[in-house]
Amino acid sequence: MGKNKNSKICIMIVPRTDKVKRLTVPQWLPKVLLLSISTIFIGILFIFNNLYINKINLESKYNDKITEISNLEEKNRKKEIELSKLKSQTNQLYQKTNEVEDKLMEIEKLQRQLEKMAGMKSPSRGGRIERVTELETLEPVDEIQVLKEVLENKETELKAFINDLEERFEYLETVPDLWPTQGRLTSTFGNRRNPFGGGYRFHNGIDIANSTGTNVWAAGKGKVTFSGYKSGLGRTIIIDHGNGYSTVYGHNSKLLVNKGEKVEKGQDIAKMGSTGRSTGSHLHFEIHKNKNIIDPLTILK
Ligand SMILES: [Zn+2]
Repeated sequence: MGKNKNSKICIMIVPRTDKVKRLTVPQWLPKVLLLSISTIFIGILFIFNNLYINKINLESKYNDKITEISNLEEKNRKKEIELSKLKSQTNQLYQKTNEVEDKLMEIEKLQRQLEKMAGMKSPSRGGRIERVTELETLEPVDEIQVLKEVLENKETELKAFINDLEERFEYLETVPDLWPTQGRLTSTFGNRRNPFGGGYRFHNGIDIANSTGTNVWAAGKGKVTFSGYKSGLGRTIIIDHGNGYSTVYGHNSKLLVNKGEKVEKGQDIAKMGSTGRSTGSHLHFEIHKNKNIIDPLTILK
C-alpha cells in the first residue's frame, strides 16, 4: 500500500503464485469510511448510552415500582391488621353489649325476686327490657347509644327501687310477725274456758309455754312504752312498733329493757315466768293494731 501524487491510494495485492493485482481507490475513501465508522460508532455509543441510561432509568423506575409495591403491600398489611383489629373490636363491642343486656336481665330478675320477698311491686319498673331485646337489630355503635340511655334510665329506676326497698324493709322490720319466744302453743286467741273459775272468757292473745327463764324477744322493731308490773299480766313489756302496731308480753319472771328504750326485731326483752294471774311458766302475747286487739296467729310467720 502506498500513496501517489494523484491523491489516490494504490493497493497492490501480491499473491504467492499469480501476477500482482493493482486496486486503485480514491484517496478520500478511507477518510470517509473512517468518518462513517466513527459516526456509526459514535451513533452506536450514543444509542448504547441511551439504552444504558434507559436501562438505568428503567431499573431505577423498576426499583421505585418495587418500593412502591412493597410500600403498598405494607400499607395493605397495615390496613388488613387495622381491619382485623376493627373486626375484633366490633366483636368485642357486640360481646360487651350482649353482656350488658344479660346483666340488665339479671338485674330485672333480682328486682322481681326482691319485690316478691318484700311483698311489694315497684311502680317504677317495666317497659324497658323490650327495648333491650330490639337492640339485636342495631349496629354496635347505635346499640351502645341506646344501651347508654337504657342504663341511665335503669340507674334512675334502681335508685328509686332501692329507696322503696329500704323503706319497705324498714317497715317490715317494725311489723311484729316474729314468734316472740320458743315453746308450746297452749292457748289461742278468742273465747276459751276460764281457767280461773267457771264459764267462758275472751282470751285476747296467745299463750306459749316453756320453762322459767326462757328468752322472750321483740316480735318487731320498736320502742318500749311500758316495762313494769300489771295486775293479772304480772311483769309486762309493751312495745310500740309504729304503723298502728303494738305488742304485749306478760307473766315474765324478769324484764331486760326499760321504758323508752328502742329495741330491734328479735332482741331479748324478758325472761319467761309465771308472774300475775298464771297457772304455770308461759308467755302471754298480744298484738294490737290501731287500738284493736287482733289474733296474733294472723300476723306471726
Ligand atoms: Zn294468755
